[in-house]
Amino acid sequence: MDTTVAYPAMNPANLRSAMTTDLSWSSSQPTELAAFPALHAEGIQVHNWADWHIPLQKTVEAYWGMQGEKDKRLYAVTDAFAQNNGQLGVSDARYVNAIKLLLQAFTPIEYSAHRGYARVSRQLGSAPIQTQTLMQSVDHLRHHQIQTHALSHFNKYFNGLHSYPTWFDQHWFLAVAKSYADDLLSAGPYEFLVAMAFGYNQIISNVLYVPFMSAAADNGDMSTASAGFSAQSDKVRHQTAGLGLIEFLIHQDAANLSTIQAWIDKWFWRSVRLSSLVAIMQDYMLPTRTQSWLNSWTTYVQKPLQPVFTAWEKLGLNAPASWDHACEQQMHVSHQTWLRLCRYSSNLTLHVWAPSPDELDWLSHQYPGTFDALYRPHLQGMAHQMATGKQAPVEPAPVLCGTCQLPVAGIDRKDANEQAQKHQGRYFCGLHCQQIFNLEPEKHSLQASWNTQAWNPLSELFDGDVGQFTGSEDQKNFDEWNGHVHST
Ligand code: ZN
Repeated sequence: MDTTVAYPAMNPANLRSAMTTDLSWSSSQPTELAAFPALHAEGIQVHNWADWHIPLQKTVEAYWGMQGEKDKRLYAVTDAFAQNNGQLGVSDARYVNAIKLLLQAFTPIEYSAHRGYARVSRQLGSAPIQTQTLMQSVDHLRHHQIQTHALSHFNKYFNGLHSYPTWFDQHWFLAVAKSYADDLLSAGPYEFLVAMAFGYNQIISNVLYVPFMSAAADNGDMSTASAGFSAQSDKVRHQTAGLGLIEFLIHQDAANLSTIQAWIDKWFWRSVRLSSLVAIMQDYMLPTRTQSWLNSWTTYVQKPLQPVFTAWEKLGLNAPASWDHACEQQMHVSHQTWLRLCRYSSNLTLHVWAPSPDELDWLSHQYPGTFDALYRPHLQGMAHQMATGKQAPVEPAPVLCGTCQLPVAGIDRKDANEQAQKHQGRYFCGLHCQQIFNLEPEKHSLQASWNTQAWNPLSELFDGDVGQFTGSEDQKNFDEWNGHVHST
């Protein structure tokens, strides 16, 4: 006869420990360092990992249950969107270019984050951090997958979504995102954790997965919006754990402070430069507009970080060195980036266009005092050039900054090359990027600069993907599907 064995009930705290931090194992290696050589990498000292209490920690069982439930809800929305021909209900075919940029630039970084966390989970041999980073690794794999699935429906109907992994690796236009991902993946375990905690999860996620995803819903795209919000629900957990980890590392050893401060300075600025792509999505690529880039920055970056900086004062940690400069720059960044990209419309992997008079007025209202004086005349001039086909011929690629890889305006290749001779062979968009390069010149020098050899086979992949939106196949098809007679 079977006998039921009664196990004493564990209290919730003990049960949680049993299912998370107590899942550790003992290595047969003679020392801990022999099993985990990266434990003291990058000069970081952790004396007792048992002091690390993970905020919002889940047991493995609860984690899978929660994520499975979120996926079920999300796929119900994406399936319904596809079955109801949701692509016909977006505000305008121009909108699809914003999600092309999401797929080309940001979805691959989610995969890099998955790889990075998986590696750290093996590198740092302590159960609390292993459990946390393993779940974060799975989260980022999920983000990569749900975005790919949500956007795959558009690939059946629109250009510019078919070869994004190749473009991410090789196109100069996406080098800002590629170099960010490569820098993350080639960092040591502690730099990676700080970069994700304060750079990607605080800056990029907060502007991409909240205001942009709200805007996606406003533009009729519930598929992308649902995937974005589903990802953001994980990222809130990552942000809390990440900021807690920075505090933990400083408490562990005062000598960690200066290294962590340098990483905060670096990754904040790298994330600010990468967020220039979100800025153009928000200000220029949404036919239905609700919130400007400047407003998104203020609401989701500038204000929420103030209490973080106040808390950091007690730790001896400062706000990033480029904080004031970055906040001032947000008044200009979307306009400057859009103008630069429009000059290269003939080989971007998405379509660009000149804003309509109504859209110029909206921008003027959102950026009082600067837009009309500095950018409206240029945008009107560009609209005229585009309409008359008189765009000045340009080189296949602009001059890119040696660190952030964004196009630098107002300099031709010859002058940039001359100036580059003085700075380790690179030209920089400004002082902050130059300082980052100088921290690790050998590493950043490995970043491939644009070259014709890589470009020629790549450009053969362009077929209906490039050029101005007006007159594009995307525009013609969308108008035809919706019963509009095309005017050109
Ligand atoms: Zn730069």
